[in-house]
Amino acid sequence: MQTRKIIVIGGGAAGFFAAIAAAEINPHVQVTLLEASRKPLAKVLISGGGRCNVTHACFEPALLALNYPRGGKALRGAFTRFQAKDTIAWFKQRGVKLKTEADGRMFPVTDNSQTIADCLMETARVAGVDVRIGTPVVQVKPTDSNFAVILKSAEVLECDRLLLATGSNPIGYKIAQDLGHLLQPPVPSLFTFNIPEPKLRKLAGVSLNSAHLRLSVSGITPLEQIGPLLITHWGVSGPAVLKLSAWGARILHDSNYQATLTINWLPEFNQEQLRQQLLTVKNTSGKRAIALHRGVNLPHRLWQYILERAAIDTDTRWAEVSKSTLNKLITELSQGEYLIHGKGVFKDEFVTCGGVSLKQINFKTMESRVIPRVHFAGEILDIDGITGGFNFQSAWTTGYLAGLAMGDIA
Ligand SMILES: Cc1cc2nc3c(=O)[nH]c(=O)nc-3n(C[C@H](O)[C@H](O)[C@H](O)COP(=O)(O)OP(=O)(O)OC[C@H]3O[C@@H](n4cnc5c(N)ncnc54)[C@H](O)[C@@H]3O)c2cc1C
Repeated sequence: MQTRKIIVIGGGAAGFFAAIAAAEINPHVQVTLLEASRKPLAKVLISGGGRCNVTHACFEPALLALNYPRGGKALRGAFTRFQAKDTIAWFKQRGVKLKTEADGRMFPVTDNSQTIADCLMETARVAGVDVRIGTPVVQVKPTDSNFAVILKSAEVLECDRLLLATGSNPIGYKIAQDLGHLLQPPVPSLFTFNIPEPKLRKLAGVSLNSAHLRLSVSGITPLEQIGPLLITHWGVSGPAVLKLSAWGARILHDSNYQATLTINWLPEFNQEQLRQQLLTVKNTSGKRAIALHRGVNLPHRLWQYILERAAIDTDTRWAEVSKSTLNKLITELSQGEYLIHGKGVFKDEFVTCGGVSLKQINFKTMESRVIPRVHFAGEILDIDGITGGFNFQSAWTTGYLAGLAMGDIA
């Protein structure tokens, strides 16, 4: 019997997971993984600030799927077949223990992404995957019964089944399009917001455990998030901002990253509670200077800045605060408006929104509905998650399912 040949294009998280799954489920298939660069798993190595946030401690498929601005619906079923719990077990079986941090992110106990890359490389070797580095693919041509994979070197390889796991690489997108697939235009996700307000930027380093953010782009229903916020030298960052950037990735791109961010610095209060809180301070500490006696739990520098925005003189005593001044202060504390002009970089993680249209993929097998025996996995698809290990989880899940389906061709 002739040996079936599988080619995986792309040596990232998704490509390795798929190649290993195919080789492990069926030792009779020949799996070749083609990686353009000399350094496979490059993103795994730089991920999570060098620690690799492998997955997230969320073990309910339906809940896990809620963390994907694009692709959540399609992933829901896929997660019933391979989810975060399976990722943990997969790595454990191969000698890598993961730990959970307070916010649910999971990392190798070594806190070193090299552990993950080494595990994938070694598992691929043991499973008999032929990993070819420095091997860019430039084109794929379907033939009568198989595929011709054309390398930059002009060498042509043949296979029965093909996986495209080229991440956000434009050549990968082009190969997918040439094979008849639709592409949702790729745009960045997971970024920080630039706010050109020098006085805010001077507060760089100030962080809050919880702020409520509302992102408004004209003509579109505002997006909201609540969570930790960090003021930076360029504007704002932190989990709440990164999540908003993910959910708003496309509208922000379309608005050229011009939007309004409304910040409620004290989400624990509604407006009336906040008013009562401030009135109590006014009544009980009337003689004290407003700048020094805050009355609400905000970092001192931030409080001073908010007073300035509300045009309140720092020498003002609480007793001197008029009704209209109090209203201005409440507005600044609970719905201060900041103009976003451009986006910044979040170094720990970023990802592409857009990619191969999910309508054309069968999520049980990750096989194309357009061209049989071509599979897709990872970031090349129109899937992206918020920050926290969700992007790798979708790469592991889609890679694993694609690998199983490709290997299962006795
Ligand atoms: C700085 C940074 C940090 C991140 N940290 C995290 C994190 O901690 N947790 C998390 O969940 N996500 C993180 N992400 C996102 C995560 O890295 C991606 O979602 C994930 O790597 C996608 O995996 P992939 O295999 O689909 O694509 P990739 O990892 O991009 O792999 C694709 C591979 O295909 C190769 N390739 C492309 N075109 C060709 C071609 N024509 N021929 C041959 N090979 C080709 C590329 O060289 C590459 O090696 C981070 C991303 C970045 C940029």
